[in-house]
Amino acid sequence: MQFKLCELVKNGFKFDCQICGNCCKGKKKGYIFTYKPDLEKLFEYFKCTTEAEKHEFAKKHLEIISQKFVYKDNNTDVKKNYYYDTLVFKLVGENEECCFLGEKNMCKIYSVRPFQCISYPVWRITLTIKKNWDENLKKCKGINITNGEFYSQKKILDILKKEFQLEKNFFLEMKAHNFKIKEVYSFLRNINKD
Ligand code: SF4
Ligand code: SF4
Repeated sequence: MQFKLCELVKNGFKFDCQICGNCCKGKKKGYIFTYKPDLEKLFEYFKCTTEAEKHEFAKKHLEIISQKFVYKDNNTDVKKNYYYDTLVFKLVGENEECCFLGEKNMCKIYSVRPFQCISYPVWRITLTIKKNWDENLKKCKGINITNGEFYSQKKILDILKKEFQLEKNFFLEMKAHNFKIKEVYSFLRNINKD
């Protein structure tokens, strides 16, 4: 998979989180997807071992939303848009804050936060579309900060590859189950799409 980075980021940029909390709020600014390895970490952390415990966690913290994935089946050359159900963290309150955002913008599950939180602002959608990068420059106080860590092109591409692989693995698992998310995650029973 090739990623075409925007001009402004292709030579890298500096970043250091300033804990402003902006990336943890607002649907328009992006959902926090929770893929299988993310869920496994969370279940271990919250000691959810039984179906009932996982169900309670899901009721409290997860939402099912529809997501697009562009995929080319092995036996064809044509890329196709697939829309399928996926899992995100619930956003709460009028500011649409992540349900795990705590006081002073601290993350309540910092040590087990999903890959997407760890990797922000290095997301495909952020770094390959100029309009999105411009928006994230306004939103995130840590991008291009003088003493930030330098994210080289190689480091960026490595993170994007990992992000893509996580999404692809999840997509393929759903596809193998005819996109019936409740067959893959039985603890989602009685939880409806928002
Ligand atoms: S899990 Fe933590 S870092 Fe991720 S969006 Fe929620 S509060 Fe922010
Ligand atoms: S928007 Fe940027 S600076 Fe603010 S919390 Fe998120 S990563 Fe940190």
